[in-house]
Amino acid sequence: MIMAKERTKKFGRNANPCRRCGRKRGVVRKYGLYLCRQCFREVAKELGFKKYW
Ligand SMILES: [Zn+2]
Repeated sequence: MIMAKERTKKFGRNANPCRRCGRKRGVVRKYGLYLCRQCFREVAKELGFKKYW
């Protein structure tokens, strides 16, 4: 799928890609982390969140 090029588009919902891996799905803006769920889990360990998801 070559629809979306690497640009900073604003889709409204998922306007904030994961700042760690760039994924746009399931990005958690909570705590201002802007991380996708997977990255959030990894970072959450470091931050102290163990059971978020
Ligand atoms: Zn990520």
